[in-house]
Amino acid sequence: MSAVIPLVPMNPPNKDAGCEAAPVLRERGQREVFCGLTGIVWLHRKIQDAFFLVVGSRTCAHLMQSAAGVMIFAEPRFATAIIDERDLAGLADANEELDRVVRRLLERRPDIKMLFLVGSCPSEVIKLDLSRAAERLSREFLNKVRVLNYSGSGIETTFTQGEDACLAALVPQLPKSDAGAPASLMIVGCLPDIVEDQFARQLRAIGIEHLHFFPPRSSRELPPVGPNTRYLLAQPFLNDTARALDERGAQRLSAPFPFGVEGTTEWLRTAAREFGVSDAAFEQATKLSRERAQKALQSRRELLEGRSIFFFPDSQLELPLARFLSRELGMRLTEVGTPYLHRDHLRHELALLPSGTVLSEGQDVEKQLDRCRAQQPDIVVCGLGLANPLEAEGITTKWAIELVFSPVHGYEQAADLAELFARPLRRKAKLNPEAACS
Ligand code: SF4
Repeated sequence: MSAVIPLVPMNPPNKDAGCEAAPVLRERGQREVFCGLTGIVWLHRKIQDAFFLVVGSRTCAHLMQSAAGVMIFAEPRFATAIIDERDLAGLADANEELDRVVRRLLERRPDIKMLFLVGSCPSEVIKLDLSRAAERLSREFLNKVRVLNYSGSGIETTFTQGEDACLAALVPQLPKSDAGAPASLMIVGCLPDIVEDQFARQLRAIGIEHLHFFPPRSSRELPPVGPNTRYLLAQPFLNDTARALDERGAQRLSAPFPFGVEGTTEWLRTAAREFGVSDAAFEQATKLSRERAQKALQSRRELLEGRSIFFFPDSQLELPLARFLSRELGMRLTEVGTPYLHRDHLRHELALLPSGTVLSEGQDVEKQLDRCRAQQPDIVVCGLGLANPLEAEGITTKWAIELVFSPVHGYEQAADLAELFARPLRRKAKLNPEAACS
């Protein structure tokens, strides 16, 4: 279907309920979050002919190594150009050094078609201008390699913001869509290939034919963009990317995020309505998947219902996950922290959260730890740095990073997503049968 009808607002948020107007505790103290370099771990798997060259220190290289684990590729797709003492002391020309490293890399690796120069804290400290370096190297390797840059530095970005910065840098490279082309749908955000394939099948079954995913699997398949592009965010942390797409004339479809049965249904329904698919046709196309997913959730609900959960701010997935856990699994939300709260992108999520949910934005880690201890939640979602100390205090934790690395979107993954929370509780019950866990 290519006809475009005006967007019918999906179940308009209820002003009397939810958390749309709820107060948010804003904290700007010490925070415990990964930097944006972490995004390379999933980005390099997605864009399969791209290479990520971190311009950083040995610390950055260690982070990448430990976050990504052992490289399973014959040739790695990311590396760190180490800024050493000579660069830091201004004794060497860091631009010349960088050009030399890039030349050597591209000579050895003709398979690289897109190269990202990724800024870090050290490259910022020595004020290395990576956008000029990218322009210079793009000219040198014209028609062979596209060289782009973005920052993954811990000064500027947290964890999932690295993906946002990378995709925002890629948007200006997208070809302009033909003015007369039919309206198309773009799904925005890195998804595991298996999830992308499932969404493609579902959207086509609903009747949406003109469909693109961004980022693409190959740098040679950049999707076109223009005023006839409608896009749905698949991830809640893509604020700069959305702004860049808006500047290219694309229109964002506002929806909850596709986590759990409800989120997935409303996300797909938003696209269906925009593309003129009748409610009856939509219901029929999604009925089986919905029912299967609901059934699969049942056994997890028996374990999770009534359990309390506390979210430390980390991945920016916190609000949609909290909505899923409370509405579909009956969990109690003690505090939902997020690094940033984009009210517009999260409008539907806020409206769907139970009213009275404690929301916090940013972090003052010691104060938040005190609040968490006072609540004694059944499970805490947090970064790796907080998990061990909390476990040592007897509090069950779930690593936020796992929620970003695992396939968790869509109907087929709804039960797996619930299982990520059920498993630690089950494990605790086995270790301590007296704990109140069935
Ligand atoms: Fe550490 Fe900054 Fe490098 Fe990230 S970019 S690993 S925060 S030095």
